Amino acid sequence: MFLRELASPLSELKGAGPVLVRKLERLGLFSAADLLLHAPRDYEDRSVKRMLGEFSQGPVNCRATVLTHDWFGYGRMRTLKIWIEDDEGTRAGLVCFNRRFLERSLPVGARISLFGRFDYRFGELQSSAFEAEQVDDLPSATGLPTGATTPGGQAAAGCLPLGVLPVYPLTDGVPQGIMRKLTARALARWGMVDDELPTGVMERRALLHKAEAIRLIHRPERPADVPEARRTLAYEELFYLQIMIGRRAMDRRDGASDRPPPPKDLALALVERLPFALTADQETVLAEIAADMGSPWPMARLLQGDVGSGKTLVAFMAALYAIAAGGQAALMVPTELLARQHADTAARLLEPLGVRLAFLSGNVAEPARKPLLAALASGDIDLVIGTHALFSEGVNYKSLRLVIVDEQHRFGVLQRLAIGAKGRRPDVLMMSATPIPRTLALTAYGDLSVSTIRTMPPGRKPVITHLAKQGNEERVYEFVRKELAAGRKAYFVYPLVDRSDKLELKNAEAMFRHLQDTVFPGFKGGLIHSRLPEEDKKATMAAFAGKGDTSPLSFLVATSVVEVGVDVPDATCMVIEHAERFGLAALHQLRGRVGRSPLQSYCFLVWSDKLGEDGKKRVMAMKDTSDGFAIAETDLLIRGPGEITGTTQAGALRLAFADAVGDT
Ligand code: ADP
Ligand code: MG
Repeated sequence: MFLRELASPLSELKGAGPVLVRKLERLGLFSAADLLLHAPRDYEDRSVKRMLGEFSQGPVNCRATVLTHDWFGYGRMRTLKIWIEDDEGTRAGLVCFNRRFLERSLPVGARISLFGRFDYRFGELQSSAFEAEQVDDLPSATGLPTGATTPGGQAAAGCLPLGVLPVYPLTDGVPQGIMRKLTARALARWGMVDDELPTGVMERRALLHKAEAIRLIHRPERPADVPEARRTLAYEELFYLQIMIGRRAMDRRDGASDRPPPPKDLALALVERLPFALTADQETVLAEIAADMGSPWPMARLLQGDVGSGKTLVAFMAALYAIAAGGQAALMVPTELLARQHADTAARLLEPLGVRLAFLSGNVAEPARKPLLAALASGDIDLVIGTHALFSEGVNYKSLRLVIVDEQHRFGVLQRLAIGAKGRRPDVLMMSATPIPRTLALTAYGDLSVSTIRTMPPGRKPVITHLAKQGNEERVYEFVRKELAAGRKAYFVYPLVDRSDKLELKNAEAMFRHLQDTVFPGFKGGLIHSRLPEEDKKATMAAFAGKGDTSPLSFLVATSVVEVGVDVPDATCMVIEHAERFGLAALHQLRGRVGRSPLQSYCFLVWSDKLGEDGKKRVMAMKDTSDGFAIAETDLLIRGPGEITGTTQAGALRLAFADAVGDT
């Protein structure tokens, strides 16, 4: 039988009653296969001997003699304390909370085998987290547990389990010991699974048999068995992943129809109207996109490029390809703010070319909504820009040819899947400023081609990043004041909208008043955060960009709503207070709001005492590099891949052993 076919319920295992079974379900363990694939998160090497005197280096693992029994407390709280001495003469107390039975199983004078974590408490060396068992031996000069290193790692009869023990991820009410017993029983009962990989592959890659690998991952004989077993199991997982991706690619190519290359005239007309030339990378990427759009099967492409590298323009040109070919295009972005900005830019750049535009979000209500949906369905709209509302119920397209997802890492997997359902298999272009390694991209998105913009538009100066400790922000404000006086603009970003009872953090509302009234009384500022009405946000953004009906704003106080995509080229200062509260990708995105013109720009990261280890790493990484790709790598190291893709699943495939980064 193959492991994944082992559907037997865990209740078949001895000791797994209904209560325990329900607890195991909380860990996602339902079947025999689940349990066998429940990988230990760590191992405890009990073949390493450690005397009581070495307690600070790790768990103690040695032989000892019981000296006396002691009792403390009264009534039901009466607790046994067993005094022991190891063969080096070090004494310690075993505090036996709720383990009165030890009075009999560890009698005075007995030799015991001991494993436990010890601590100095109240001037005594003691432990309440220990395992001990009576053994049949004599004090030795070395105190070596005799059963520790028999061949095969088998513990001698009557001794504590020795060798390398698995340490499992647990849930409330399922202690480590129970987990170990259950996996041991599961191995005995179901462990003889068949190999799944072709013999040739197994030989070529020097892989273990599957049954062997599963056994060793749970019960390694030596520490070195663990990586060996993991390699086999990870290889198999990635082998299946590759097959799944290959199959998906075949499906996509299935029913291919001849598609002529998209006409380029509209896109070229746009380029002619621009005040600048495309960068070489933008050209290359566009050629790749055009080739995909003219190939017989739909495009599935990820466009990676650092913040400010000019992805929006590429998106618009791709949309023009689709439109010139007689289709419709949809551009989906994660926030309404960004959707509006893109719609404004599109109106400026594309409407003169005769492109019929629309903006759609959940906030577009009747009476505007109905005619808009009708126009989309009849093909009277060429390009629609909006939030995920673009792919909600009731939104239909006449001939959706291209879907562009901006800042795609912000969208959930399901939303991404919903896209495909709208058109007759539209071309899909996903854009991201948070590059991820290829394996990870494959795991998260399946079969994708990747294009990368590496160079920035000419004339950009790298943003200068300064760190400032909280308390010194006056100096930061002073610097910003000079920039504002020179006609530049500044962002101030805070982790909270308003006062929080739980967190002692500066918030956007209070800081807006403070900055406006006290710090920059001579300049006009605006406030923007997620709880304000859309109309207000829109007006404030327009005023900050200098495009509003009101007089322009010099500074904008915000939460991370300005994180993605916002493009106001004459803003030169980004001040992020409580920088330690933001993730690395967010910090990089925020910094990307400045440095969008030939003007020298600055980013100030103001950090407070509650920096923490990860916070420090993030802030330092920001200071040290401006390269989004390097930052994404650091982010991956700090956070791990699962959190970044928002999923550790790859379709129906579960990556329990393979590491999408380490196993590249
Ligand atoms: P992102 O890749 O972060 O989405 P944007 O598309 O917002 O970047 O572009 C950042 C800025 O660079 C915009 O103001 C845009 O007009 C400008 N830009 C784009 N391409 C070029 C180019 N080839 N030369 C000069 N400026 C450009
Ligand atoms: Mg962008």
